[in-house]
Amino acid sequence: SAKKTNRGNIALHNQDIQNAYLNKIALRDKLRNAVKHELLDVYYQPIVDQSTGKIVKFEALVRWFDDEQGMISPGSFIPIAEEFGLIQQIGHFVLKKACQDLNRIHSLGFSDVSISVNRSVNEFKVSNNQFDLISEAIEHANIPFKSLTVEVTESMATNHYTWKLLAELRAKGVKIALDDFCTGYSSLSHLIENQVDYLKIDKSFVDSLLQDKSKQIMISCLIEMAKQLGIKVIAEGVESNAQLDVLNELGCDHIQGYYYSPARPIGACIHLLEEFNGEGSIGFDLLNFTS
Ligand code: C2E
Ligand code: MG
Ligand code: MG
Ligand code: MG
Repeated sequence: SAKKTNRGNIALHNQDIQNAYLNKIALRDKLRNAVKHELLDVYYQPIVDQSTGKIVKFEALVRWFDDEQGMISPGSFIPIAEEFGLIQQIGHFVLKKACQDLNRIHSLGFSDVSISVNRSVNEFKVSNNQFDLISEAIEHANIPFKSLTVEVTESMATNHYTWKLLAELRAKGVKIALDDFCTGYSSLSHLIENQVDYLKIDKSFVDSLLQDKSKQIMISCLIEMAKQLGIKVIAEGVESNAQLDVLNELGCDHIQGYYYSPARPIGACIHLLEEFNGEGSIGFDLLNFTS
């Protein structure tokens, strides 16, 4: 009967919830172990300046290669880390490694290159002394404050304490980027009040750019506004030549995406710098690039 089927569905549904919960707990324990034994790694994705074709910045992205499961994406474990109080340790590990690797990049002569790290909501609690942690990591690695960018998402923009802290870091020279812009609600006020240095247009927006003319109009307006405010615009998740062409036509400052490169280990990034930023090089040769 219908009633019986319904019961069956509910039982199945409960089983699903239970399985999801058990998977989550297993992942949490595995992550705890990975954090404890420093099994995480940091990869870097280049961000290319469109006026020079050179790499201006690398985004530090945490990586986790598990013996059994292979690569586990940050999209699935960062939320777990946030929920179970592991995000601070992960964030600090990525920050320290990124600052040290940037020191290496600078010491090889690429002193204009900067680095960016991501920050989650829970990392900006009053008790977390992020200001000291970030300042110390920069000073310890002996890099300029202006060479570090902190990426925050719009969903964090509602927290007053976060903005106070970001303003303090900014006063020291650290740059602030608004990540995943154009997703969820858009808080233009943080741009207009000139509290950020970079605006990162989300991949989902870039994805629909070619089919959706209204998206192009929106980006064109954003870029125009950003220019007047002295904010640089970075497009994320650019994969094709056609997307790149449109973004260049609209005057987008910087491009990040598989079109140029996915995130890579530091050694491979240094090779990219030597090839494309080195003396006499003309930057990424767009004509020779196929994606
Ligand atoms: P995000 O900060 O927006 O980083 C950009 C994501 O887009 C990265 O995914 C990058 O690999 C991916 N991506 C860039 N270009 C392309 C492209 O052309 N095609 C495709 N398909 N993907 C592209 P990833 O590394 O998987 O990271 C996902 C998210 O996890 C990040 O999004 C960020 O929110 C979070 N995350 C990563 N590392 C950290 C970290 O150290 N701390 C915190 N709090 N969050 C992190
Ligand atoms: Mg980011
Ligand atoms: Mg993003
Ligand atoms: Mg994202």
